[in-house]
Amino acid sequence: MNTIVGPLGSAMALKPSKEPMIDPFGRAVTYLRVSVTDRCDFRCTYCMAENMTFLPKKDLLTLEELNRLCSAFIDKGVRKIRLTGGEPLVRKNIMYLVRELGKRVHDGALEELTLTTNGSQLARYADELYDCGVRRINVSLDTLDPEKFRQITRWGDFSKVMEGLDAAQRAGLKIKLNAVALKDFNGDEIAGMMRFAHDRGMDLTVIETMPMGEIEEDRTDRYLPLSEVRAQLESEFTLTDIGYQTGGPARYVTVKETGGRLGFITPMTHNFCESCNRVRLTCTGTLYMCLGQNDAADLRTALRASEDAAYLSNAIDEAILRKPKGHDFIIDRNHRRPAVARHMSVTGG
Ligand code: SAM
Ligand code: SF4
Repeated sequence: MNTIVGPLGSAMALKPSKEPMIDPFGRAVTYLRVSVTDRCDFRCTYCMAENMTFLPKKDLLTLEELNRLCSAFIDKGVRKIRLTGGEPLVRKNIMYLVRELGKRVHDGALEELTLTTNGSQLARYADELYDCGVRRINVSLDTLDPEKFRQITRWGDFSKVMEGLDAAQRAGLKIKLNAVALKDFNGDEIAGMMRFAHDRGMDLTVIETMPMGEIEEDRTDRYLPLSEVRAQLESEFTLTDIGYQTGGPARYVTVKETGGRLGFITPMTHNFCESCNRVRLTCTGTLYMCLGQNDAADLRTALRASEDAAYLSNAIDEAILRKPKGHDFIIDRNHRRPAVARHMSVTGG
């Protein structure tokens, strides 16, 4: 039996579930992504508007409540948790949650605890993350040019991110860089970023921009299909498809010339939904069963309504039964509104 701590500090027994949760399309749900805050110290142009209205702090779940929710998912067969945001490392006292979830890695209930970060706070937290049981992280980086970095993040400091990468590698964390491919911005930089990553023993994954949330610019102007990126890389490098899987939507190739690995996440040109194993929890306790759909389940009410773990467990079961088959992302001139109104920072990608 596992126990979780109720809102009043009481320990509640939970029956461990041997079987993972299965959605209506037969997919096992073993991966939970948790957006611990919608706030961020950057304002990446494809992700956020410059003047964002963030959630009032009172609407946020406490870190103890987030821990309780994560525990409920672990007890229902979730084996991997990724903390994301907004920027996860700007949430006050975030290391409390990392440490608590790290204990679940140590006791074997969780296979992996990881996070996606913009790297701005990594120099400060890298050692502690490792100490808590984190072994791999994703760092988002769209350019190696400090000027362009400032342009795309609006507020970001490139040198801080470089310091963060150094600190993370010194601490022993494995790093995967994530770059969003953006037309007329970094299309010509992907080869250089790949060399940079592979020289330092890091993987690189490139991602197509997804139509989420209102931003100032028109996404059609920025959309760069990865089929084009790949074709361009293939004029210079030998790419070989491999079956490597990290439990995510990326398809990987090895690059003969660098000896490294390159991933492609192609929500627009290649639908990856058939193997989707994940659900997404926001910092208000809303569970999105699909990144590209609006249906959501309110777990905060269930969490606060009763200390009975079965109550929350039932609410999670009901939500999983509503997991849809896939998303309907389209970017073209006839679909000027985003596919979903919420920004990526709500669910964390
Ligand atoms: N702040 C952290 C970071 O940037 O890594 C975590 C949250 S961020 C929302 C997670 C990932 O989503 C980042 O790699 C970011 O580049 C990506 N992202 C944000 N908006 C996107 C969009 N509209 N389309 C594709 N990727 C997006
Ligand atoms: Fe912040 Fe990440 Fe969105 Fe950039 S992509 S604005 S770093 S949440």
